[in-house]
This record gives sequence, structure tokens and C-alpha cells, in this order.
Amino acid sequence: MIYLKSQEDIQNLFLANDLVSKTLALVGRNIKEGVTTKQLDTIAEEFIRDNGAVPAFLGYGGFPASLCTSVNESVVHGIPSDKCVLKPGDIVSIDCGAFVNGFCGDSAYTFPVEEIDQRKQALLDVTKEALYRGIQAAKVDNRIGDISFAVQQYAESNKMSVVRELVGHGIGQQMHEEPQVPNYGRRGNGPKIKSGLVICIEPMINLGSKNIKFHQDGWTVTTADKQPSAHFELCIAITDDGVKQLSTFEYIENK
Ligand code: MG
Ligand code: MG
Repeated sequence: MIYLKSQEDIQNLFLANDLVSKTLALVGRNIKEGVTTKQLDTIAEEFIRDNGAVPAFLGYGGFPASLCTSVNESVVHGIPSDKCVLKPGDIVSIDCGAFVNGFCGDSAYTFPVEEIDQRKQALLDVTKEALYRGIQAAKVDNRIGDISFAVQQYAESNKMSVVRELVGHGIGQQMHEEPQVPNYGRRGNGPKIKSGLVICIEPMINLGSKNIKFHQDGWTVTTADKQPSAHFELCIAITDDGVKQLSTFEYIENK
């Protein structure tokens, strides 16, 4: 069941996503050599609560933190830890969610830690552009498969691979609603895109093979070949006036 959103719902989803966007930027400003992913999680949780909001990930399915922090070959769902110390040349994907007025925001950004090599920089650039290509394909009367195709096409034309097992999603009063938004697929397939649809598009792109490994802690996901992986996520609303981005990377990129 896909819940289409009213204008008021979309305004609340904007507030939640805007706070998530600001949280990601704050976390980003604190990413440097020697910082632990646990410290980043504490900064995020305090900021979310100081703004009167509720972390969406904390306790979700038993997840123990407010951020997912996934370093290098870790794809998503990395658990913040005081043993995970960032070092120059790492990339760290930060995924964050928060509830405001009962509606959920959810976005992710992969940050470089100081200087990174060209291959990792290309991975970040391609993953983020794949997300924007997906957003461009999100139009009334297109289908979810058009988004999926656009993401996959861009990533694979840059000789990178698309994680299959984890997908984007509808979002509203629940963090994960229908429809699923895969990052691979065929044009013209899947549910029709209608005004009022709110979805998160979130490509997870690997430098090496697409294969991933699920770890025994029940959360950690890494690439099978231990090559790096990146993850960018934005939330968009389809409206009668076109597509609105409810979350943004502007706070991160225009410091
Ligand atoms: Mg998501
Ligand atoms: Mg997310």
C-alpha cells in the first residue's frame, strides 16, 4: 500500500528532512583524523534532541545508535563504535534519520576523511551523480523502474557496480514504506509515480563487484571483495508543481 501525502504531510516531511540535512552537515564538520564514529553519533543524537526531534534509527529493529557509520568497504548499517577511529584516506558514509511532528526524515552522505585517493573520489562523485540522475527520472507518470534504470545506467557506465540487496523506499510516518526503490531495473517497470509520492532514493555503489556480505552482528554489511563502497540518499516529494527535494546536501557543500 502506497500512502500518498497531503501538502501538510509534505511540509512535516520537509521539516524532518531539513533537520537530518543539518545534522549530516554538523557531523561532516566534525569528520577528521582521530575522531571515532561513536563521537560522531553522540554529536548527531544531541543535535537531533536539542531540536526537539527524535532519532529514527535508535532502537529501529534493535539498532543501537542514531547514525549508521560505514567506513570504506562497509556498505551501510555500520554501528558507531569507540574502536572505529577515522584516519586520512578513509571514506565514511553517514546515514541519519529523525522524526519531527511524527514524520520521518532520512538521508545519507559519504564523506572523505582528509585527502582520499582518486579512485575513492571517483566513487563518491559517481554515486552522488547516480542519485541525481535518479531524481531527474522521478516524474509524474514515469515509473519507479525509470529511477532504478537511471541510477544503474550511470553507475555501470562508469564501470562501478550497484548493490542489489538494499533499496530506497517510500517514507512518511514510517521510515520505510512502500514502494521499494531499487537502484537497478528496467524502464517502464514498477509502480507509477503519482503526485503525493514521497520517496528516498539511495544508491549504494561499489568500486569492485556488486556482491556484499551480511555479518553476524545482524547489521554490518561489507563488500565481498573488500573494495570501497559509497552511499548517498535524498528524500523527494512528487507534487503538482514538480519534484521537491525535501533533504539537501547544500548545508554540507556550501559551508
Ligand atoms: Mg533510507
Ligand atoms: Mg538512510
